[in-house]
Amino acid sequence: MICVNCFHEKTRVTNSRPHKKQSGTWRRRQCESCQTTFTTYEKAALDETVRIHYASPPSTTTAAFSLSKLTLSIAASFSHDRTARQLHSLPLAETVEQLLISQVRHPSADDIAATTHQVLKRFDELAALHYAASHGLVAPTRRRGPGRPSIK
Ligand SMILES: [Zn+2]
Repeated sequence: MICVNCFHEKTRVTNSRPHKKQSGTWRRRQCESCQTTFTTYEKAALDETVRIHYASPPSTTTAAFSLSKLTLSIAASFSHDRTARQLHSLPLAETVEQLLISQVRHPSADDIAATTHQVLKRFDELAALHYAASHGLVAPTRRRGPGRPSIK
């Protein structure tokens, strides 16, 4: 890996630590020329390796997971906040990807939508609402008639 400081072509790993709960590894690298040390993070990607099942009756189609497509669909949920859209769409998509890798063995399009919604909800309620509306995830509103107490 190229040095981030002087672009020297050789750096060596001085320390590495696997993540216990995620599929990733931290590495401490040092440049052989200027001695600058920096950290890299290696993580698994869903890209290309995982086929996502899209149920579209009567047939089921599969396609490779696309981080850029997910980033775009998240960006589309931030029409109310341009700054957040530019700054956070990609990191949010990466968060969704890492959650899927660590929690779902064979993610489907529904799993991706549900996880994305969950991540957006923690980050920005309005973006989560936009996302839910455009992905058909709107939860049914609970109605309780007047004068009818809930039974526990
Ligand atoms: Zn260097």
